[in-house]
Amino acid sequence: MNIEENVLLGRMTTVGIGGAAHHFARPQTVAELEEAVRWAAAQGLEVFTIGLGSNVLVADDGVDALVLRLEGELAAAEAKDGLLVAGGGAANAVCLHRTRAAGLGGFEFACAIPGTIGGGVRMNAGAYGGDWRGILERALVVSAEDSGWRSPDELGLVYRRSALQPGEVVARAELRLEQKPPDEIKATVADLQAQRKAAQPTNKRTFGSVFKNPEHNLSAGRMLEAVGLKGHRIGGAQISPRHGNFIENAGDARAADALGLLAECRVGVLEEFGVGPLHEIRLVGDLHLPRAGVSL
Ligand SMILES: Cc1cc2nc3c(=O)[nH]c(=O)nc-3n(C[C@H](O)[C@H](O)[C@H](O)COP(=O)(O)OP(=O)(O)OC[C@H]3O[C@@H](n4cnc5c(N)ncnc54)[C@H](O)[C@@H]3O)c2cc1C
Repeated sequence: MNIEENVLLGRMTTVGIGGAAHHFARPQTVAELEEAVRWAAAQGLEVFTIGLGSNVLVADDGVDALVLRLEGELAAAEAKDGLLVAGGGAANAVCLHRTRAAGLGGFEFACAIPGTIGGGVRMNAGAYGGDWRGILERALVVSAEDSGWRSPDELGLVYRRSALQPGEVVARAELRLEQKPPDEIKATVADLQAQRKAAQPTNKRTFGSVFKNPEHNLSAGRMLEAVGLKGHRIGGAQISPRHGNFIENAGDARAADALGLLAECRVGVLEEFGVGPLHEIRLVGDLHLPRAGVSL
């Protein structure tokens, strides 16, 4: 297993912010993945798996962990016999292509989620009434201690969260789908993508929705709009002028800039609505809070 040093991780994220992974590996098989996580355990290093980096804010100083990116057979996907069988590193877009070609429907909701199968399991990603929990049959989870298949219940999939720990890597997953004509799938995807384009910034560097929707009649985006934070900017990071729940890298943003915005959003919403929205994005590495007393 080749361990690379100081690989720029920020560039592997959709928002394009952050420093380097001090240790980095690209396992291609389950055996290589097991070797990598055991190596990290022996070195006393944490493991962080990066998918397509679409929900991640990496610290400016990078991350002193073993960062894994699943490639080869761990990023392959095949659709047959009513199942999508995919590596944890398989891109949703590729999986959707395979399922449509095989006439299998039920994965269309993921057309607007620019991540991987493993990232989808970890986040229980979802949109338009569908989520991973609704279609996941089982996932093969590898850690330094053991490897085994887990059901959605064992994975603890709830709204935008799972019980997976950082050292637990989704190597493969099986999603249960249903027969559907490819043309119908194509039409649904086109409709969902048009809806997305109309509502959210699509050609900007972002990490998707920053905050989970709190238990409130207003969504996180509407709350942020109501407190006047739409368009607010710190350094190179800006709250999208189009959608309050998106932070954009408007030019050379640092993680500290994005974190400053996160903190201001949280305080603003807490003061106005009495609920502190929880962030959906994963913070990686040693991020420095710009304001004392704000817990993220
Ligand atoms: C424009 C845009 C729109 C988005 N829209 C949506 C949406 O509609 N719905 C939604 O739910 N999300 C949305 N997201 C957020 C994001 O795409 C999802 O959370 C996605 O599932 C993350 O997948 P990823 O592979 O990019 O994971 P990453 O962002 O790389 O990682 C996210 C988390 O998953 C973990 N992880 C990644 N791969 C694995 C693995 N193989 N095993 C274990 N853990 C792993 C990481 O360690 C990290 O904790 C959007 C993001 C963007 C940029």
